[in-house]
Amino acid sequence: METPGSQSSLHRANLERVVRAVRLAGSLTQAEIARTTGLSAATVSNIVRELKDGGTVEVTPTSAGGRRARSVSLSGDAGIVIGVDFGHTHLRVAVGNLAHQVLAEESEPLDVDASAEQGFDRAEELVNRLIQATGVDRSKVAGVGLGVPGPIDVESGTLGSTAILPGWSGTRPAEELHRRLGVPAYVDNDANLGALGELVWGSGRGVKDLAYIKVASGVGAGLVIDGKIYRGPGGTAGEIGHITLDESGPVCRCGNRGCLETFTAAGYVLPLLQPGHGPDLTMEGVVRLAREGDPGCRRVIADVGRHIGSGVANLCNLLNPSRVVLGGDLAEAGELVLGPIRESVGRYAIPSAARHCSVLPGALGGRAEVLGALALALSEMGDSTLLDGTLSPNPPAFT
Ligand SMILES: [Zn+2]
Repeated sequence: METPGSQSSLHRANLERVVRAVRLAGSLTQAEIARTTGLSAATVSNIVRELKDGGTVEVTPTSAGGRRARSVSLSGDAGIVIGVDFGHTHLRVAVGNLAHQVLAEESEPLDVDASAEQGFDRAEELVNRLIQATGVDRSKVAGVGLGVPGPIDVESGTLGSTAILPGWSGTRPAEELHRRLGVPAYVDNDANLGALGELVWGSGRGVKDLAYIKVASGVGAGLVIDGKIYRGPGGTAGEIGHITLDESGPVCRCGNRGCLETFTAAGYVLPLLQPGHGPDLTMEGVVRLAREGDPGCRRVIADVGRHIGSGVANLCNLLNPSRVVLGGDLAEAGELVLGPIRESVGRYAIPSAARHCSVLPGALGGRAEVLGALALALSEMGDSTLLDGTLSPNPPAFT
């Protein structure tokens, strides 16, 4: 038995701090590990050597600020994680290793809203096929992260809204995948996973406070505060789609009038353009036509940007994020939408909040959520199995 505060338990705690820092970031130089963990350079150096000898981490030469440095990442064969993203119309699965390399990824069309059972069947099938394709042993799976397009009640793990995914009402998605795959499973909504994906792999790298805005059939924000996703007890933090912009505006599905969503979501925006552009117009089509110079589509995209910008200005005043990342199809419109967003932020946010906030397009496109699901699995998995050698081919003798 270890006594708390003893030399060996302190050592173990330091090992865990280093492994955790590297696991969350993918790879870090030894100086960055020291900064992240608060450990001294000498301690980090000793711990990295020990972890390397045990096969838990890999060390590769790199350069940082023009100087030679050593980049530390978890060993590529230490284990794998799986990301599963259920969109409204697709299923996407990725398999990655603990060094943050994506080993396999595939997406297929799926009417997710129709039936949860069918969704889980297809997900199970695709996960098994991709694990097989990577040639990695199943026992190496450390966890699966799962994204669904609706709010998740944090305590019960159930989907919090029956209006958004009627075929999923009452299901516990993480429990279901855990039962089917036999590995720990973690679930979150799509906006939070988009935020995590961009934070770890995309436009949010290097910042600790970020808002990821996703405009699709609704409008949501994933909020990262001090490096962590902020969910709130009901999992509904970031519902900026229901900020009131016009008290006498259109009635929203939430029952209020003039919500941000009623000025920006596809269901409200497309009818404005369909008389001139045909009934089959999609948001993707509007973005494409706007880029090709269609004046009506440009105007509508700019208006959507201005309205999103009002919501983002509120977010800036409340949370003072250093970065706002726009995801989803709309991000493809580039400056046509980002310019008006920035303009509104400049107009409506208090100047110091606006000054510290940069608005960028997502770097990951439609992959943000599935990579966020990988990041979720990476952040939730513990390190004890890793350090005890259960997942490591060469068990390090740490006690
Ligand atoms: Zn509303």
